[in-house]
Amino acid sequence: MRGVDGKTALVSGAASGIGRAAAKRFAEESASVVAVDIDEEGGEETVSQIESDGGEVTFVETDVTDRDDVAAAVETAVDTYGGLDVAFNNAGIEGEQVGFGDQSDDNWERVVDINLTGVFYAMREEIPAMLESDGGGAIINTASIAGILGFPNLSPYVASKHGVVGLTRSAAVEFAAEDIRVNAVLPGVIDTPMVQRSGEADPESTERTIAAIPAQRLGEPEEIASTVVWLGSEDASYVTGQPITVDGGYSVQ
Ligand code: NAD
Repeated sequence: MRGVDGKTALVSGAASGIGRAAAKRFAEESASVVAVDIDEEGGEETVSQIESDGGEVTFVETDVTDRDDVAAAVETAVDTYGGLDVAFNNAGIEGEQVGFGDQSDDNWERVVDINLTGVFYAMREEIPAMLESDGGGAIINTASIAGILGFPNLSPYVASKHGVVGLTRSAAVEFAAEDIRVNAVLPGVIDTPMVQRSGEADPESTERTIAAIPAQRLGEPEEIASTVVWLGSEDASYVTGQPITVDGGYSVQ
């Protein structure tokens, strides 16, 4: 693979699940990683797992809804590793799962702020840093199959993830001539703490979910990470603006 060797990759949501798996995979492929999360304890655990495998990583405690935090994280990549080549904007929350009429203003604002506005703030800092480093760049935003399909009781989440797909397409078109590629990864149901929380609340829901997936199993965070690293690599050099589903066939039924 014409990979990510020697590149600098910023990963948000790196304290858990998909973000941790991607941070580890970037480091295994010899990228320097800037791991970003609001959860300092989980972030430090990611750092220790990467360092014990000999990888290069710096953790920056960051709330993706805070413009200054986001700017500081990108600045850390530039100051520590000399530039920014790849960014995986992945931090997200599921929010409260209730019917449309019971959705509170607070839940709507929190989900949209983290899942959509957080991606916008990140890209607004990352793109100029990539343009300055002269070699182009690759951005991968985490949407979801909820970025192309509707799901009941999850309207703010679904709206935020559709928004991520739109933001991805717009930036892809705007920056393609400057060699910045922008894609979205759309995970199906992946075995992470996010999904484990809903499984604990309603144990039969996991069985129903698995039954609805053609592959008849949940995805693993590493299966998203490998797609993300490919999208960040030179091997994906003509791929931009795409919503890439990684869902065991769920969305094509
Ligand atoms: P997770 O809960 O394991 O990890 C999410 C991470 O985001 C956590 O480390 C959390 O601390 C961090 N985070 C939350 N709010 C933040 C904030 N304001 N600032 C910085 N960090 C913040 O969940 P996951 O399953 O790994 O989810 C990662 C992404 O994948 C999310 O965007 C999620 O919507 C998306 N996704 C997950 C699935 C799935 O089935 N697990 C499916 C589709 C999409």
